[in-house]
Amino acid sequence: MRHSQGTTTPQTILIVDDQQENLILLEAGLQDLATIITCHDPQQALLLANQHKPDIAILDVEMPHINGFTLCQKIKANPATQHTSVMFITSHNDFENESKALALGAIDFIGRPINLNVCRMRVSNHLQIKAQESLLADAYSALQKEKEHLHVTLNSIGDAVITTDQYERVTFINPVAQRLTGWSASEAIGQPVNAVLQLSDSSTNAPVPNPVSLSLREDRVISSTCNTKLTSRNSREYRVEDTTSPIKNALGQCIGAAMVFQDITESIAMATQMSHLANHDQLTGLPNRLLLHDRLCQAIARNSKAATKLAVLIVDLDNFKYLNDTLGHQAGDQVILLLSERLHSLCDSTITLCRIGGDEFALMLSDVDASSYIDTIAGQVAELVARPVPVDGQEYSLTVSVGISVFPDDATNEKELVHHADTAMYRAKSAGRNCVCYYSDEIQNAINNRFHIGNVLKRALEEDNLEVFYQPKFDLVTGELSGAEGLVRLRNCDGSIIPPDQFIALAEESGLIHQLGDQVLRKCCAAARRWQLMGKEIKVAVNIAAQQFSNSRFYDSVIDALQNTRLPARLLELEVTESALMHDFEQTQIVLQRLSQFGITIALDDFGTGYSSLSYLRFFPLDVLKVDRSFVKDMHSDNQAENIVCAIIHLAQSMQLTLVAEGIETRAQLDTLREYRCDEGQGYFFSRPLPESEFETSFIQAATVSPPLPTCQALSR
Ligand code: C2E
Ligand code: CA
Ligand code: CA
Repeated sequence: MRHSQGTTTPQTILIVDDQQENLILLEAGLQDLATIITCHDPQQALLLANQHKPDIAILDVEMPHINGFTLCQKIKANPATQHTSVMFITSHNDFENESKALALGAIDFIGRPINLNVCRMRVSNHLQIKAQESLLADAYSALQKEKEHLHVTLNSIGDAVITTDQYERVTFINPVAQRLTGWSASEAIGQPVNAVLQLSDSSTNAPVPNPVSLSLREDRVISSTCNTKLTSRNSREYRVEDTTSPIKNALGQCIGAAMVFQDITESIAMATQMSHLANHDQLTGLPNRLLLHDRLCQAIARNSKAATKLAVLIVDLDNFKYLNDTLGHQAGDQVILLLSERLHSLCDSTITLCRIGGDEFALMLSDVDASSYIDTIAGQVAELVARPVPVDGQEYSLTVSVGISVFPDDATNEKELVHHADTAMYRAKSAGRNCVCYYSDEIQNAINNRFHIGNVLKRALEEDNLEVFYQPKFDLVTGELSGAEGLVRLRNCDGSIIPPDQFIALAEESGLIHQLGDQVLRKCCAAARRWQLMGKEIKVAVNIAAQQFSNSRFYDSVIDALQNTRLPARLLELEVTESALMHDFEQTQIVLQRLSQFGITIALDDFGTGYSSLSYLRFFPLDVLKVDRSFVKDMHSDNQAENIVCAIIHLAQSMQLTLVAEGIETRAQLDTLREYRCDEGQGYFFSRPLPESEFETSFIQAATVSPPLPTCQALSR
């Protein structure tokens, strides 16, 4: 017997004969072929057969009580032994007995007297046949098992499976495939696969070639495009994804095809929804920045051929953050929604509206043939936004800053186009908001320049390379040098000087102003200390930006600068502007109070240009008022300016503040200021701001060796 694992158990032969000598003879003759069991009692032989299930039973025909034929019948009747092959030993070598034996299922005869050689060969042949039969049975049962596995698998998997023969007729269809096609197995089997499986292109509805035919014809695995649609017998539609492989026989010949497909309707719906979410703004449902880029790419490709233009308008609400902060986000959302609806009314097949940020929209105008059209749309945008917006029973009115960039004039690709429209929008913002600005090379140059200056400034700060120029101040009564204002300068890579107007605001925006202020302060203190050591006590005035007061370390850094340079506090003056005082009223007040108590002079710079609110002046420990140079400049051309200067001088006198006029450029200005009894003056008439060494040569050393400056002499006359 052969077991499925491949091990061979020895074969067994049961020999039954009532004559002992026959048993001995046969056992001796056959014992090397199999395990031999002998028995002379037929009754006992049945028990042994049942127990050992011999491969072959060799039975004597003539035995007392139970003859061989009866025994054979009983062996065959027992299911445990029904497969045992029976051979008879008989001397009745006649036809009648043979046919009776064969009818009972015997396979062969051994004639008496026994020819052991012939007998051995016969038995050996039958043993071999038995062994083959057993192998076959094992193989068959293994095959059955595998088939059963396959059946269960195909019927329970989530994929749909259809197999066909080489003529494309369905040979198998699993339950999932039955559900998707609407065909039951009994209906489908034998049908052409084309009839059962109706595939088409989901976008065009055109039938697609059946993958089974293709796979059979080309003898290869075929995978469908993701655009395939299956229409079931009852007209339901499914998006499917399928793979079809040829089935081959042992000779490698194609005998059919197996097609596996999945219903991907839901995943496609999900993907579509996800893509919508990814490409649209949730609040307004408008396309977002991602989709804008996509649409722009397509439009650029179209417009390049059509020779028309494409414009992008970036529309940014002015001061929306303020509205959002005061009314709350919900109200803010309401406003955005309302405005998006209004702006959407502008859209047609050539205008797309997108929401690209919290308070930022973009309009894409394609097929533009005249720039006046862009102006018109921009005007309409401003008008739509300006209409009153009702929120919580109140009406608000909003304005927008619009930046415009045009393809192909301003940009070569979609990224540049949006970027340049953005740049133009920022320009519109910095031009005071509520306006429309087109992108231009000038704007770009200004931005590049700003970027460059930012880098130069950063490097200068890192290397402590800032320069400070000093401009002298004079006592208008005595004509004597009364102080100097330190004015920061940045040296460009080419050696030229960058004036502070070009980098102070930038330093303020980037937060570098603290470091800058600190370095300038230290340089100014060091200079004044040197002048003191050279025998000249000259107060140095340092400009302080509004932001510096919000820095908790500001007070300490001023004190540190004085202590490190050993400059007495009375030789330091800090110039602050009105806006600095108002920036953080309480904090500035406290800091100035402490600095003043330390002995430092506090000057109010650019007086007259800011809030010019006299009431707040008394809250600050001020010593000096500097009337802004614009009034001095206009003094003789504009009566109003002269009146203001006069009023400021009186104000300073009444508050016992020292008044300094800056920007004195002419003799006439100087004379008028002296008439009004202005205390001190500063301006090009006396001297431009000078590098430290020049300032020292002209005003520190010169005063001790040579007579005072001609202008000063003129004053004291
Ligand atoms: P400011 O504080 O009003 O400084 C006076 C400005 O007027 C200086 O310009 C000076 O060169 C200029 N000036 C002086 N006399 C005349 C004149 O007779 N006619 C004309 N037209 N102008 C005159 P500068 O140096 O370009 O500084 C400009 C501004 O930059 C300063 O205005 C100040 O606000 C700021 N600044 C300069 N240095 C610093 C600094 O170290 N820190 C801070 N935070 N700001 C500074
Ligand atoms: Ca100043
Ligand atoms: Ca000033």
